[in-house]
Amino acid sequence: MQSIKAAVCRAFDKPLVIEDVLIAPPAAGEVEVTLDAVAICHSDISFASGAWGGFLPAVYGHEAAGVITATGGMTEGFEVGDSVVVTLIRACGSCPSCAGGKPTLCETPHDTVKGPLRTADGGPLEQAMACGAFAEKVVVSHRQIVRIPEALPKDVASLLSCGVITGVGAAVNAAGLRPGQDVVVIGAGGVGLNAIQGARIAGARRIVAVDITEDKLAIAKEFGATHGVLATLDAPWKAAYRALGGRGADAVLITVGAIPAYDQAVRYLGRGGKAIMIGMPHSGDMASYEPVVLAALGQGLIGSKMGDVVIQRDIPWMIDLYEQGRLRLDELISGRWSLSQINEAIADTKTGSAKRNVIMFDRA
Ligand SMILES: [Zn+2]
Ligand SMILES: [Zn+2]
Repeated sequence: MQSIKAAVCRAFDKPLVIEDVLIAPPAAGEVEVTLDAVAICHSDISFASGAWGGFLPAVYGHEAAGVITATGGMTEGFEVGDSVVVTLIRACGSCPSCAGGKPTLCETPHDTVKGPLRTADGGPLEQAMACGAFAEKVVVSHRQIVRIPEALPKDVASLLSCGVITGVGAAVNAAGLRPGQDVVVIGAGGVGLNAIQGARIAGARRIVAVDITEDKLAIAKEFGATHGVLATLDAPWKAAYRALGGRGADAVLITVGAIPAYDQAVRYLGRGGKAIMIGMPHSGDMASYEPVVLAALGQGLIGSKMGDVVIQRDIPWMIDLYEQGRLRLDELISGRWSLSQINEAIADTKTGSAKRNVIMFDRA
């Protein structure tokens, strides 16, 4: 085992603690990735606040990019020196979901407490989300990583691990948008801006962003929204109908965790429309619907995890679109911080900033 620095959650809703922790060498099928960048996601913040429970102590962080510095063999072509993004999608490749082309729904259980991390005194330490990337290094399955061009900046690359694939994938894969369809995106935060980009890339006719501030609606338009509606209006769906020429949307993408957004989402839908649930409310939160309306209008409610992506298929085309100027990534980064500043970076993210804060690692 080697000693690395990590930001450890010792108690929910308390600052993370920078500690020396132990990490095991990669086993067969695994790689060690020395990280250059890890972005802070609202999921990390929800875990650290205790919203979803889980084992403590734990290392969160799951939107990472770096370079492979060791392999355990059997890594299907991945080699030391490869630049990669690290995702939390640990798919076994052979369960019914994986075999059916849905690796985000992998059914094979995986014990993250018995993973590669230990506390300095050898005690258990959870590799949360199968990543534990608020740390200088991760040891992960080769199925969780995707090779990227060496020249792609790692801060930009880290965004592809979660926020970008979740938002773009929800529009392209989960909603299956076709050119000419109308879309409403609720929430113009990190995932929402990517859902908007995904709708634009898919050829949507009109893209209505719904958020609680004019500032975020203005940013949404930079990412491709054609209209903005304030969620604070009495009946914001009526403003959306007007923007959509008097009809409801073909798809509503809900990218926030607030329950009112889920209660209202179906009101934006037109006949045959689908509401795609992407945001991650706290465990136990409930939403309510009027089933007769859904039945009469042939509408659907669909949950989407991680944009239903197949990372080996979807991340490479997103990199191409970025390099062609068709997918905005640089503009998603609001700040760069060191690991020792992680609590400040998290506090800044909690203020509701639309974009991503990225922890950059100093590599000697
Ligand atoms: Zn995330
Ligand atoms: Zn599987």
